[in-house]
Amino acid sequence: MSTAPMTSSAPYLRAYNGQVNLAKAYSWSLTRIQIFMIEVIDKPSTYGVGRHVVSELKRLRTDIVDLSENGGGYQSEPSYPQAISRIVNPAAANEDESYLLLDIMTYGGLPYWNSFDLLAPESATQDNFYLPLTLMYSNWCGKIAPMAPWVSSCVWAEEKGKQSRFHLGASLGGYRNPENRGNRWVKILQRARFNLIRDQRIDTAGITFESTNIKGRGGNAIPFGNCAETYPLVNILRNHDPSEEVYGLALMRRKLPEHAYNHLQALNTLMKPCINCQEVITTWGGKVEKFITDDIPDSSSIASEAQGSATPGPSPGPSGLKVTLPIHTKRPSPADDTTEPAAKRAKKRAPQIPKNGKGKE
Ligand SMILES: [Zn+2]
Repeated sequence: MSTAPMTSSAPYLRAYNGQVNLAKAYSWSLTRIQIFMIEVIDKPSTYGVGRHVVSELKRLRTDIVDLSENGGGYQSEPSYPQAISRIVNPAAANEDESYLLLDIMTYGGLPYWNSFDLLAPESATQDNFYLPLTLMYSNWCGKIAPMAPWVSSCVWAEEKGKQSRFHLGASLGGYRNPENRGNRWVKILQRARFNLIRDQRIDTAGITFESTNIKGRGGNAIPFGNCAETYPLVNILRNHDPSEEVYGLALMRRKLPEHAYNHLQALNTLMKPCINCQEVITTWGGKVEKFITDDIPDSSSIASEAQGSATPGPSPGPSGLKVTLPIHTKRPSPADDTTEPAAKRAKKRAPQIPKNGKGKE
C-alpha cells in the first residue's frame, strides 16, 4: 500500500558517458536533439563514443535530419511527406505497381530506411537504464516526424564480466499511403521488415510473411517483422552468444506522459511481446520470460497494441487479441537480483529504482 515517493527525476543512470540525464532528455525539442547529435560527433570522447564510429555517426545524423519533418528526404515526394527513405517508382504509371519504392540505407550491415530506426544508438555501456532510454527514444521519434510508431522496444544482452549490448527499435511507422493506390506501399514496407528476420531458422520454424495470426485495427493481418522488437531482436538475439542472457522490453507510445514522468508512469507504458515476437524469440534461442516482468500492467496483455499501423485512425484502440503467456517472472534487476551479483552489478553502483507500488509482496 505504501508507494515509494516518486519524483520527476528518478535515479536512473546517466547515458553517454554520464553526459545525458535520460529523464530530462525525454522532453528535449527537435532542435535540442539535433544539437546533441552534432555535439556527439564533435566531441566523441566526451560522450564515450569510439572514434572509429564517428564517420558512420555523421552519415547517420545526416540521414536522420534528412528524414525528420521538413527535411529534404522527408519532403522528397511532397504529396506524401514521410519519414521513409524512398523514391518514386519509375513504373508507377502501371496501376499494378507501387507508387513508391524503398531507398535503402545500410548501417552495421543491415538495411534501414526509416529515421526512427536510425535514431537507435548502436552500443552503450550502461546497465539498468533501458526503460528511461526507450522512453526517451519513443518520445524523440515523435519529435523527429509525425506518424511516430505506436510501440518502441529495447533488447539487451548481458554476460558476466562483459559490457552489455543493446539495440533500440520501433514498430513500423512514419509512412503515408499514396492515395487511390491501395496498400501496396505498406505491403512493401511490411515485406522489407519481414525480410529482416528471415533466415534458415525462421524458415524451418514455418514462419512466413503470411503465417501471422495477429490482426490490427480494421482486421488487417499484421505480419511478422512489423513489431518494435524487429531490429533489436535481429541485432541482439539472433546471433547471441550462448553465454549471454537476452532481455527485452516494449512500451506503448499512447501511454507516454506528455512532458516529465516518474518511474511508476514509466512502468505503466510497458507491454508484453505479442505472439509473433514470442515465436521469433523462441526460434532464435531466447527465453520469452526474459521479455516479461510483472511490472507490466495487466491491461497491456493485448497483442500488438496496434503495432500494425502508424496511420492515425479514428480510434487507436487495441486489436482485442489476447495473448496467453507461458510464465510471469520478475526480471532480475540490480536491486533485487541475488543470484548473479557480478553480471548485473558490473559497472556502476545500482541505482535505487523506486518499486512499482501496486502491492506485489
Ligand atoms: Zn510483436
